Amino acid sequence: MRIVLMGPPGAGKGTQARRLSESTGMKHLSTGDMLRAEVASGSELGLLAKGFMDRGDLVPDFHIIAMIQQHIDHPAGILLDGFPRTVVQAKALDEALEQTTTPVDQVIHMSVDIDELVKRLSNRALCGDCQTPYSLESDPPSQPGICDNCGGSVAVRVDDRPEAVTHRMKVYQDLTAPVLDYYKSHGDVVEIVATGSPDEVFEKLSQTIKSGMPGVNAN
Ligand SMILES: [Zn+2]
Repeated sequence: MRIVLMGPPGAGKGTQARRLSESTGMKHLSTGDMLRAEVASGSELGLLAKGFMDRGDLVPDFHIIAMIQQHIDHPAGILLDGFPRTVVQAKALDEALEQTTTPVDQVIHMSVDIDELVKRLSNRALCGDCQTPYSLESDPPSQPGICDNCGGSVAVRVDDRPEAVTHRMKVYQDLTAPVLDYYKSHGDVVEIVATGSPDEVFEKLSQTIKSGMPGVNAN
């Protein structure tokens, strides 16, 4: 079983992917995590990737594809998070998977309402010193703006502010729309409305994945 999980920044994709991986045994492949691990290990790819990342550039498709290819064969299946991000990557993934057994089984798109996303992200705050996360609504620091853990200053991240969130959503949509179109032209993309609590979203995702597993009747 191979699943591509897509969704805009702030949809909770990484958290959900980790939970789904725990509950299904599928291997969670996050290109972000993998790149950070390569950089930390000082591998050839890591050194190369670090150059791009330090300049604020995206690591080119070619290297991302080579990295993913080393991990796509896993007996319990794979759950791709953050990949493919471009049509070139989506095509390369299909080609690589054809050489193993089956292509992508399920593409799940977590869609969110932009107003809700703006609300959710602008509630998320972080200590600038020790990086402790807070929710200004449900779990605020006991003194406004001051970290309980280290006394540092707690603020909403610059890129979580409403204007920045709106911009990130637009960038995501521009980049991702072609990838979704690519998958739609090859089969179905399952749309999950990823609003509601993390538990509710997890439930929806689990049901979707279960319905797509071999031996289970979809519909
Ligand atoms: Zn702190």
